[in-house]
Amino acid sequence: MANFPTHIGIGTVASGMLATLTLAANVVGPESLIAVTAAGVLGSVLPDIDLEDSRPGRALFFGLAAFFAFVALFLGAGRLSIAELWIFAALTFLTVRYVLHGIFHRISVHRGIFHSVLAGLFFALLTVLIYYHILGRYAGVAWLAGGFMFAGYIVHLVLDEIYSVDVMDTRLKASFGTALKLYDGRRPGPSALMAAAVAGLFFLTPPSTDFVNGVTSKALWSDLRRQLLPKDKWFGLVGSLDDLAFWKRLDGVSFAGPGKDRGPSDGIATGSIPQPAAPAPKN
Ligand SMILES: [Zn+2]
Repeated sequence: MANFPTHIGIGTVASGMLATLTLAANVVGPESLIAVTAAGVLGSVLPDIDLEDSRPGRALFFGLAAFFAFVALFLGAGRLSIAELWIFAALTFLTVRYVLHGIFHRISVHRGIFHSVLAGLFFALLTVLIYYHILGRYAGVAWLAGGFMFAGYIVHLVLDEIYSVDVMDTRLKASFGTALKLYDGRRPGPSALMAAAVAGLFFLTPPSTDFVNGVTSKALWSDLRRQLLPKDKWFGLVGSLDDLAFWKRLDGVSFAGPGKDRGPSDGIATGSIPQPAAPAPKN
């Protein structure tokens, strides 16, 4: 399996790339963007929640405990005194870090039901509920956070599967096929429970119409495609292969400097790096 730093690293990169898309699509404000990206990063380590009492397992529960301590602060803010808030957050932290970890450690099997797409759905729906009901986000944003959680989860499972192919001598490790699975076929009981939990959570979620309409809107995708590549030159410097002087040199055609098609306005020194434009009109 891939180790903890690999998971958190690649999960963060993947979530960051998704966040860039989300920002370009202009569907959520920057303050919500951080919250939904965090869900993706969390999703990329969550499948190993059932790890035995190891350093990564403890680190994961430490992170979860910190996250829920903040959620507790959110919940209590304005209703409790500062001293009560501190106690509430500390109790939440200790409960998640020690009590919940202890329970997980005792009852779950590593690479059992939590290492499956079904569990990814479970945590995605749980994320929607937490973001909507507890963190008070719009339904669309809550569903987006659920989507990030699910994407992070899938990245983790795929990564583990890739790591089970031994790249050095192309031998399959014994773990092959155990990382990315729809559900845990060896243990039907826990799988059925998980499926029931997914169905139950789904009934509690807020309407997903905003989110579905948003991500399936034609305008959004054509706008994204328009923004995918630079309109003119990459970083304002390089337009096409013809502009790369070294190609011409490789051809042995021209050592005489820029070709005649390079006008005086093409160089770096003439300020072709885009000036910070006026704020783009919001639509
Ligand atoms: Zn894993």
